[in-house]
Amino acid sequence: MLFQDIVGNIKTKQELIDTVLNNRISNSLLFYGNTGSAKLPLAIAYAQLLNCEKIYHNDSCGTCSSCLKYNNLTHPDLHFIFPVWKIKSQQSVSDMFVDKWRDFFKKNKYGNLNDWADFVGPEKKTNHQGKIYKDEAENIHQKISLKNYEARYRVILIWMPEQMELRTSNKLLKMLEEPPERTVFILVSADPNQLLPTINSRLQKIRINDFVAEDIVEFFSTNKISLENAKQLKNITGGDLGRIAKLINEATIDEDLFEDYKSWLRLCYRADVEGAADFSNTISLKERKSQKLFLSYIIKMTRESIIYNFANKSLLQASKKEQEFLVNFSPFIHEENSCLIVDKIEKSIKEINRNANSKILFFELSLQMMKFLKVKRKFAIK
Ligand SMILES: [Zn+2]
Repeated sequence: MLFQDIVGNIKTKQELIDTVLNNRISNSLLFYGNTGSAKLPLAIAYAQLLNCEKIYHNDSCGTCSSCLKYNNLTHPDLHFIFPVWKIKSQQSVSDMFVDKWRDFFKKNKYGNLNDWADFVGPEKKTNHQGKIYKDEAENIHQKISLKNYEARYRVILIWMPEQMELRTSNKLLKMLEEPPERTVFILVSADPNQLLPTINSRLQKIRINDFVAEDIVEFFSTNKISLENAKQLKNITGGDLGRIAKLINEATIDEDLFEDYKSWLRLCYRADVEGAADFSNTISLKERKSQKLFLSYIIKMTRESIIYNFANKSLLQASKKEQEFLVNFSPFIHEENSCLIVDKIEKSIKEINRNANSKILFFELSLQMMKFLKVKRKFAIK
């Protein structure tokens, strides 16, 4: 991961690069920022720079023997620690899931804890968000008691340290108090207030800012998103690049989502309560990931309806089929109810993240949508 491949956060990047160029490297750092920000990619870029053999133009070279291993996230002195799940009769440590985790990061650099849980899928058996169990502390201890294989700095990167069990935290604190030579701990957190204060106070803090609309335009340069469009996406998602990437990619790939949306909106329009119950039943049997995708898709289509209503059709990200549907349905989704709809959907996504009963949730949402669709426009715009 090179710094130049990560959009935004220009000042923070330069400050990080300067610590390496001026040899002021802290042995315990905390990269923190909101979900969907660049904290994890930046932490990995920083670890790579610490070990690059030929720093070039203020960035890792990408081609030295250290960088080649870092490009694949397989450097023997780069250790990833992250939330995992218990698998019967074995130690529950990150090493057991590390291939999957590398794959996850390569496909979804801005993903969150729920995305990771969904990515692991049924293999994880239990449905919580994953934990960093006490076994992990012993595992880290073993890693740092050996000499570095080859790197200038061994890196222990802990993603989502807020998921540590208390016993793990206590043991980690001891390691941070007596850090071994040539070892850098990098913690990457969405909510550092959940860390033990004694750990928190030992870390040098790097705040990672949310993406701004210009960053989003740059990130999707090949998709040619307008600044206006990027601003809307930022409003809908709070600048969460993981979710924006999903919304953008769905525009072209997901036929099923479109069919589901169409039948759901029609039954809400007809105020078909029995149909809503059937629909809720069916979708509640799907994975949480699919349920959230469906909800994100409703947000996307709500946004498209608004664009359609206000006539600047060049901003539409909709496919041909979606546009045909919008012709008939956009009069019912407008400036008077769109915020209510998006608000309700955002709340529903949060509730699914908290493991709400999705059958009840979708039924209630459908009833609400029936009401929203009855809201009349104050001014008709032709
Ligand atoms: Zn290099």
